[in-house]
Amino acid sequence: MLIDIHGDIWTDVTIKRGLGKRAVIRTDHLNKFKKGGMSGGIFVIWADPPHDQRPKERLVESIKAMGCELWESRDFLKVVYNTDDFYRAASENKLAVLLGLEGLSCIEDNVESLYALYQFGFRHATLTWNEQNALATGVKGDQDRGLTAKGKEAVKIMNELGIILDVSHANDKTFWDIYNETSVPFIASHSNCRELCNVPRNLNDDQIRAIGEKKGLIGINSFNEFISFEDDKMTVDYLINHIEHIAGLIGTDHIALGFDFFEYLEGDTTDSFTTDAYKGTIGLEDISKAGNLINKLSERGFSKEDIDKISYKNFLSLMSRILK
Ligand SMILES: [Zn+2]
Repeated sequence: MLIDIHGDIWTDVTIKRGLGKRAVIRTDHLNKFKKGGMSGGIFVIWADPPHDQRPKERLVESIKAMGCELWESRDFLKVVYNTDDFYRAASENKLAVLLGLEGLSCIEDNVESLYALYQFGFRHATLTWNEQNALATGVKGDQDRGLTAKGKEAVKIMNELGIILDVSHANDKTFWDIYNETSVPFIASHSNCRELCNVPRNLNDDQIRAIGEKKGLIGINSFNEFISFEDDKMTVDYLINHIEHIAGLIGTDHIALGFDFFEYLEGDTTDSFTTDAYKGTIGLEDISKAGNLINKLSERGFSKEDIDKISYKNFLSLMSRILK
């Protein structure tokens, strides 16, 4: 089994359905999911630039596209709300999908909207993407600003409801504010280690230890620019160095896979935050190649038990502790 805890699938679906395509997951992704042995994942709605300037409208468009797509995919895909659902999906041979939100600019400071989003089925959210908003501050916002008073309320509501709180994209101040506010474990669904690749989207060692202490989860990101600055280190092997680094600090109980594949995004969108023409990580360009990472983990001496934990067990354990 393998769970990818970060994929911008609903962004891809919303863009393509907007161009008139239908059954996007079946047509463009299902075979790759199968080839990669993927059993489930967190599929997020993300307001891709320039739509990040109109996040509320984009949320409505994305939910509509998602609803249509879920109906058209009902023979192979099941929305899950807890660990039992996950196993039910597996027994029905269906892909288990947890609905997520990458960024909550869409709700402005109306934190009670979280109750509605919960009823719509969302069980995961980051408070920001890279921007600063009414709730919190992302990596491109004011570095002295963290959670706002409304953001603290949002954290409480998410804790109460059982919505997985994700700090990927949070700036350092927001990270530590969330660490201090949350009463349940939190995750960084798609971030690597600053010690090996010093970008703000990755985590420093104190942050990694803090996530371990709170019994949360770090999803390893396959985006080449978060693996290394050096071209010859943008590899699966060097990504495993990130996994080893985290394991050295907090063991293997808090590591997962949050691949963040760029193939779910359009060129116009990625141009807005990366100057490099995306080359991908050789051998891990999309989910169909996930087996390469698993095989290399084994070659590098990770036990079957550790690989199972990283691939899916750690995430199932986290789900069972947070989701109602
Ligand atoms: Zn992201």
